[in-house]
Formats: sequence, structure tokens, C-alpha cells
Amino acid sequence: MKSSDYLISTVKEAPNDAKIISHQLMIRAGLISKLASGLYSYLPIGLKVIQKVEKIIREEMNKSSALEVLMPVAQPAELWQESKRWEEYGPELLRFKDRHDRDFCLGPTHEEVITNIAKQYIRSYKQLPINFYQIQTKFRDEIRPRFGVMRSREFIMKDAYSFHMNEESLGETYKVMHQTYCNIFDRVGLDYRAVLADSGAIGGDSSHEFHVIAESGEDTICFSDSSDYAANLERAETFSQGEPNSPEEDLKEVETLGVKTIDDVCNLLKVDPQKSIKTLVVIGSDGSLVALVLRGDHELNEVKASKLKGIKQPLQMADEEEVVKKLGCNFGSIGVVNLDIPIFVDYAAACLSDFVCGANENDKHFIGVNWQRDTKQINPSDLRNVVAGDPSPDGQGNIEIKRGIEVGHIFQLGTKYSDSMNANVIGEDGRAVNMNMGCYGIGVNRIIAASIEQNHDEKGIIFPRAIAPFDLVIVPINYHKSSRVRGLADQLYLDCKEKNIDVLLDDRKERPGIMFADSELLGIPHRLVISDTHADNGKIEYKSRSHADKAEIDFKNSVSFILSKLV
Ligand code: ATP
Ligand code: MG
Repeated sequence: MKSSDYLISTVKEAPNDAKIISHQLMIRAGLISKLASGLYSYLPIGLKVIQKVEKIIREEMNKSSALEVLMPVAQPAELWQESKRWEEYGPELLRFKDRHDRDFCLGPTHEEVITNIAKQYIRSYKQLPINFYQIQTKFRDEIRPRFGVMRSREFIMKDAYSFHMNEESLGETYKVMHQTYCNIFDRVGLDYRAVLADSGAIGGDSSHEFHVIAESGEDTICFSDSSDYAANLERAETFSQGEPNSPEEDLKEVETLGVKTIDDVCNLLKVDPQKSIKTLVVIGSDGSLVALVLRGDHELNEVKASKLKGIKQPLQMADEEEVVKKLGCNFGSIGVVNLDIPIFVDYAAACLSDFVCGANENDKHFIGVNWQRDTKQINPSDLRNVVAGDPSPDGQGNIEIKRGIEVGHIFQLGTKYSDSMNANVIGEDGRAVNMNMGCYGIGVNRIIAASIEQNHDEKGIIFPRAIAPFDLVIVPINYHKSSRVRGLADQLYLDCKEKNIDVLLDDRKERPGIMFADSELLGIPHRLVISDTHADNGKIEYKSRSHADKAEIDFKNSVSFILSKLV
């Protein structure tokens, strides 16, 4: 490609709303252009990067024997009503009516449509297992689109859906997809981790997220410092840390006038928050109140809490007015002494002794509280987020916490959709069986943003070769004045093209400084500079985007030199 026939759309300044480096650099390098909140156009160079990522995904998915399909973005409400998600999905699902007043939505995901296809075309166990995928536009009306294409409203996803006779077959394909995802992210050149994720009703190890490790990540990833254990924050488990010590203090009520937060209470009473508890009140499955108790310095894990027996799903915090009416005090004063509602106590809180809690009376707390002696029966449970330093659930080492960007998610769905949408096949014994299903997603645009988060410097993007918009840029000095430079540059350009090197010849009438800056901003991995001075000596200047040093190489060897860098 010659720059004069192309659009080099670099801009000087990133907009104010670009808070993270990948967003700033994608705008500055002219990969994307904002249309409206969460909606971006891909300019020629950005699209080229997208296509390189898609090619890798396609090749690896095809290798895994998945079959490519393409489903519509617009989907009829009836399918979503069948799966019950028309009501359940919430405002991320963009709904609209057609001219005949029929309800539709823009697909945020395609389980319903693919299940409908499977229902029509898969009749016998002999056709199973089968795995369909597409690379296609999704729309999610995200509450807070941000970070450019990292969390946009319209984005490209590779989504795949597999169908199986039984859980065993699902487990096998799940393993293949896990490996396929590793192959894809390895080829793209990402530093990533596969982590255990919450797997909803199916449980076990049936869901993994793939996270790119980056400071700007919105997710929290928990690792063991001494083993392979890795899980996201929702999923990472905690365990009982032993029995409480025997009581040493007497139960005593103290005044805590006007003090509301746990930190303020602990400051006033000069107690470490680790020796206090906080009591949250949620709604039980029958509508009554249920208490969830955590150590003062810990945070509730809502995913874990919503799975407790007898708790309403999704988790719903009690209304403060109702709490005042039924328990006799405001939120900040609830405690476990004489508390007459079911109580679930986090393992870490359950091993405290002589601790502080609210007295179920405003402006009063208890000190010297002890389980059993002062409280009714408690249900020790895993209720909290892990914190750095917690023992790893696999018994090896301690937990470390880092930020991650979720680029992929694989999930064993079981028969959730085939049950609700009646997607069955005839088994070997002639009986109809609802198919087991797996689903596997990759955020194509997010991969690019995540890669830039990991690969950049003060000059711009440093694309890994596999997804760089070009392999090589040729920068001729005085292309428009020196016929010798022009002749050499044009010949080199043709020679590179002949060898299938994805090359950009910067033949713009720009100052060298601008051409150098653009090639660095764009992150093109290799650069050759041709000038009259170099030509006098039969040389050309080479620079790699990822190294500071420049080298002079023989002009006549330059194509083979670049080819050797591209293997
Ligand atoms: P998140 O927790 O980040 O919202 P999700 O759990 O909703 O992600 P999935 O439904 O599993 O995501 O979608 C599969 C993949 O699609 C994600 O792993 C992510 O890479 C990508 N993705 C999801 N939402 C967006 C978005 N708003 N913008 C860009 N990519 C997205
Ligand atoms: Mg989401």
C-alpha cells in the first residue's frame, strides 16, 4: 500500500473522554472514529487490524472443526420470550418495533437464534456433537459505555455454540475450546490468564474467562502465588479458618452516638475493624428478612450470597424502612445479639471472639460479643470477596490480586436453552433428549484495545506482528525531490510485495519527522529509511519499533533481512 492511495488518519490530540491509553492511541493513530457514545467507525487501518484478528480466530476455530454461520443482528421477540430472557435481560437489550408493530431486539448474544437453528436442522444423535460459530456485530445498550471499543455498545464478537447428547460430550468440546482460545490469544501475542469464573447453575469448573492482565482492567483476578489456581473475584473461594477462641470478655453495651459507618465505630471504640462485624440485611426467598454477617474489613460477594439457600435471587438488599420497622434500628446499628431472623455468617467473621457489633438499637453497639454465648445459631458460609494474602483454595500458597480485561468467556450452559425452547434430538434408543449446550465468546475489538494496553510506549502503539496493520513501513527521505530515492523506494516496495510482506510505502509529501512519528504511533513493527546519503554507500537504515537502536544494512539484502525478521 502507498500512503498516497491510502488514508493515514492520525490526529494530534486524543479527546478528553479518552481516559485509558488504548482509547487515546486508537483515536490518535486513526484506527477508530467516534460516532456517538459507545459507537465507533473503523477507519481503513483499524479495519485492517480487526481483519487480522478475525483471520486468526477463524483459522483456529476452523481447526477445531467448528462450523461458521452468520445470524441476523435483528431478532424477533418471540424467541426471547420462549427462553424467558425478554423479561429477564434488562435494559442492555435494545428493543424496538417494526412497521407492523412487532417486537424485535438487536442481538446482544445469539443463544436463542442458534438454538432455534439447531432445533430445525439437528434431528438425530448421529449429527452430534456440533459446534457453530460466527464473527458478527452485537449490540448491548451498556449503562456506561467507556474506554473506547473496550466497552462499547456495538461491537464484534466471535460467538460459538456447541450442541451435545450428554454432559460428557459437552465437557470434551469445552476442553477443545479452552485450548482453541489459548491458541488464539497466543497467536495474537497477548499476556493472558484463563481464570475460573462463576458458572451459575451448572457449578464445578464449567466456566472460564480469559483475562488480559492490565492495570486498566475492570475485573479483579485472583491468583495463587505458588500454583496454577486463578479465578475471578466472584468465583474465588474462601474457607473456614478454624474455631473462635473461648470468650474472654463480658458482653457490654456502649454508646456510639451519631456514628454510622463501621470505620467510624471502630475509630470511636479504638478497635481494629478486623475485630468487628457488619450485618447486612437481604430479602429471603419467601420475602422475609435474612442477615448476612461479614468481618468489618471484608466485602460482601453478591454472587456467592445469592446462591445461599433461602435467599431471593437476584440478591436484593432490604429496604431501610422495613428494617427499622422489623428490627427496631437503622442499618448501621444492626447486630447479631438477640437478632431473630436467619443469620449467615462469613467464615472469617465466624472465627472471631470478643468482637464488636451493632446492638439493634440506634446509637448503641455491643463489645465483647461471642458466638453461641450471645447469639442464636449461625450458618458459617463463604460470603465475602477474597483479599490479597488469603490462603489459596487449592491449599498451595496465598492469593495475589491483579486487574484483568476479559477478552473471552467459555461456558457450559447445559440444557438451559434446549429445555425452555424444546430443542431435542432422537437418541440411540429412539427417545427424544434435550441437547446439552456450550457457548464460547471472544470480544474481537476488545482484543485490540487490550493488546494496546499491553504494548505501547510514549510514542504510540507497539503492535505484535500478528495483528499489526502493516509488517513494514518504508520511509523515503526526499521522495518527491530525489529521483534516485524514489526509484529505490519504489523498487524495494515492489520487491517486498512480491515476497508477500505487508508493506506501506510512505510516499506522502510530508517532513521525515511526521512520517517517523506516524509510523511509531501506528506501531508498525519494522521500518526502513532510504535517503541519498544511505544510497551513496549502498545502505539502508533499519529500525524495529520495539527497540531503540537503528542499524545500517546493505540495500541489496534488505528484503531478505526483513523476511528473516518476520518468521
Ligand atoms: P463484561 O463482563 O465485560 O461486560 P460479559 O460477561 O458481558 O463481559 P460475554 O457476554 O461473555 O461478556 O461476551 C463475550 C465477550 O464479548 C467478552 O469476553 C468481551 O470480550 C466481549 N464484550 C462483552 N461486552 C462488550 C462490550 N460492551 N464492548 C466490547 N466487548 C464486549
Ligand atoms: Mg457485559
